[in-house]
Amino acid sequence: MLKTKKDLDWQNLGFGYVKTDYRYVSNYKNGSWDEGVLTGDSDVTINESAGVLQYAQTCFEGLKAYTTAGGHVVCFRPDLNAKRMADSCKRLEMPVFPEERFLDAISKVVKANIEWVPPYGSGATLYLRPYMFGSSAVIGVKPAQEYQFRIFATPVGPYFKGGVKPITLRVPDFDRAAPRGTGHVKAGLNYAMSLHAIVDAHNQGYSENMYLDSATRTKVEETGGANIIFVTKDNKVVTPKSDTILPSITRRSLMYVAQKYLGLETEERAIPVEELKEFKECALCGTAAVLSPVGEIVNHGEHICFDKENMGEVTKKLYDTLLGIQLGTIEAPEGWIKVIE
Ligand SMILES: *Cc1c(COP(=O)(O)O)cnc(C)c1O
Repeated sequence: MLKTKKDLDWQNLGFGYVKTDYRYVSNYKNGSWDEGVLTGDSDVTINESAGVLQYAQTCFEGLKAYTTAGGHVVCFRPDLNAKRMADSCKRLEMPVFPEERFLDAISKVVKANIEWVPPYGSGATLYLRPYMFGSSAVIGVKPAQEYQFRIFATPVGPYFKGGVKPITLRVPDFDRAAPRGTGHVKAGLNYAMSLHAIVDAHNQGYSENMYLDSATRTKVEETGGANIIFVTKDNKVVTPKSDTILPSITRRSLMYVAQKYLGLETEERAIPVEELKEFKECALCGTAAVLSPVGEIVNHGEHICFDKENMGEVTKKLYDTLLGIQLGTIEAPEGWIKVIE
């Protein structure tokens, strides 16, 4: 089953855009989606007043294709990305790209770029970026009439440079999402307004911001691009419950793994900031980062410390088990692994 692969230094890839051979494009016009094509053209041409350019009418998804121990190229739970994108589109008054077509387009893009799928054991993956935007001109504030749905692929290495060394978060004075706003959908606008906070965090020497609920600023929510899990002293896995958190597929999978594979108790509930010092482990989770240990949280002069050198014991078990499920060395729950080839 030896396939030709691109001549890349797979072990040392960063997390950045690399242009691959094919991407998928479908256009929405007069109330329906066209049949969609794979194209070699990585440029997008749209009107100067396109909805996305004026009023940020756009949402996206992120998932990965990779090679399993058995040599198959697979995706991890892409049906949940299809569903979440449909939810994002509805919230942003965009037409849903049908979920079955989303899955079919994912397969097409991965197959067309099969030489870009990193080999098993490299730690790298082929990151897939489905997204949609208002492409027709608007000037009054209203939804566009026409839309474009695209998926491109780019090979990536580990998200956080330096591997699994625990990172430091700070509680910022900025908020991420308003009650009844768009924090629960994957809208580009959530990221645009987080850029200032992340640049500021980096300037102060922190890896990421740990946002609080904006209504009361008393409860833990998530970081700019990852959900958070905690482990209590009696080994319960706890994650914040809030309507303004993005429902991470990695986090939902980890909570299942904690319960069903590791026999741990799990809780999804409000987490007051004062409780942070009671936890013994903390980690960020998301497709890009999988699970990244947090060594310290700084909240306006208060330092909450976890293991600053290594991944916590429970975090490590969760990480190893989820990675094993993804790579096919541990049996996956029904429907979690979609074989592309
Ligand atoms: C995408 C995203 C995540 C992670 O979700 P996954 O489905 O696990 O990749 C977490 N938080 C935010 C704000 C996100 O946009």
